Amino acid sequence: MSGAALVGPRGGPTPRRRVIIVGGGIGGLVAARALGLRGHEVTLLERAPRFAPVGAGIVLAANAIAVIDALGVDLRPSGALLDRMDTADADGTLTSRLDLAALRPTVGPALTLHRAELHAALAAALPPTVELRLGATVEALELGAKPTVRLAGDAPLRAELIIGADGLRSAVRRQLLGEEALRPAGEACWRAVVPAPPMVTEGGGAVEHWGLGCRFGVVPLSGARAYVFLTRARAAGLPDLDPTALDAIFGAFGGAAAALWPALRAGPLLHHDLLEHRTHAWGAGAAWLLGDAAHGMTPNLGQGAGMAIEDAMALALALEGQAALPAAHAAYVQARAARARTVADRSRRVGQIAGWQAAPLRALRALALRLTPASAAGRAYAALAAPGRALAAAWAALPPA
Ligand SMILES: Cc1cc2nc3c(=O)[nH]c(=O)nc-3n(C[C@H](O)[C@H](O)[C@H](O)COP(=O)(O)OP(=O)(O)OC[C@H]3O[C@@H](n4cnc5c(N)ncnc54)[C@H](O)[C@@H]3O)c2cc1C
Repeated sequence: MSGAALVGPRGGPTPRRRVIIVGGGIGGLVAARALGLRGHEVTLLERAPRFAPVGAGIVLAANAIAVIDALGVDLRPSGALLDRMDTADADGTLTSRLDLAALRPTVGPALTLHRAELHAALAAALPPTVELRLGATVEALELGAKPTVRLAGDAPLRAELIIGADGLRSAVRRQLLGEEALRPAGEACWRAVVPAPPMVTEGGGAVEHWGLGCRFGVVPLSGARAYVFLTRARAAGLPDLDPTALDAIFGAFGGAAAALWPALRAGPLLHHDLLEHRTHAWGAGAAWLLGDAAHGMTPNLGQGAGMAIEDAMALALALEGQAALPAAHAAYVQARAARARTVADRSRRVGQIAGWQAAPLRALRALALRLTPASAAGRAYAALAAPGRALAAAWAALPPA
């Protein structure tokens, strides 16, 4: 296929490239669709023998959905529209509200999904030209004149461009930068999907209860289910808490949290420490990075996957009309670096503010939340979504592949 060319938006030809994507997570799947639609010859390598993402949910904000929609993937049948994002005190008293339903006509929809259903929808949307290889673990790269991916127990593969979309502990990133210590966010997190009563699902709203050094988040999913996440300020690397300790912390919450705690404590909870990259990295030469491999960030803003999805489209756009990979890479970094940095920094700050434990700070936070007009919160959300919407518009303006 190499040698065939499309006319890109910069006026020059777009070489159809042989691309290997390492990692079939959210970012890798979206990149494979975008690059496949633009005529590149894509192999997607995923180490898992089958797609079996964690039993948790996810919120895709309007910027992410704008990109996914532009790629012609309709996630609505798998997801639920999110109408509100609230914060509340531990007892359930409302402290702030973001009215997403009111913003939908101008900013676009936000959706909640079970991760397994999101992966299934993205995998089903892979163009037939994309070669998907499950059970393919990348062990090393050779980045000389003929970029090569070395696989565990399989023959090496060559490509013009290798994309590391292999998550927070990326092997591609490690190959480029060496071993790095991840930065602990100072919180442990527990997640689960549980059946939910109508009081949780019918309002269409998510709520995050902020307690003393702990949070209890409730996100309605389709099919009378809720995705629940719990956080607790804690040094990284400690063993999981036993049910009695979890009961003492999370059993005392009110509102939607109280309605879900019995189901939660009965079932298995996924336990992680929250970690992020200290520095962002975008790769170089023939090995580029996207998503968590480039900028693993805290989940406080619910934008890690949103950034991976935006990266995937920006990367495909950066290749358009660029004959030379270095120029395309520069365009990709230019499009993404400041955006990802801003979102990661903001996400960390939200986590720090939510974690305030001193009484004066908590009083200040409550006052600030009360005094922030709904219109200001709406404007901030619209501004956060704008870059994703701009990418989607740029994609829609591409000439046919
Ligand atoms: C508690 C929590 C809640 C979150 N909530 C949200 C949210 O509501 N909204 C949101 O937008 N984001 C959220 N995020 C962030 C989001 O989950 C990540 O940013 C997103 O999954 C990153 O996607 P990715 O494709 O870059 O990496 P991943 O999803 O980690 O995918 C990487 C893939 O690469 C594969 N892989 C790894 N190594 C290799 C190898 N050597 N060879 C081959 N394959 C390999 C893995 O098996 C995996 O499939 C949350 C994160 C956490 C921790």
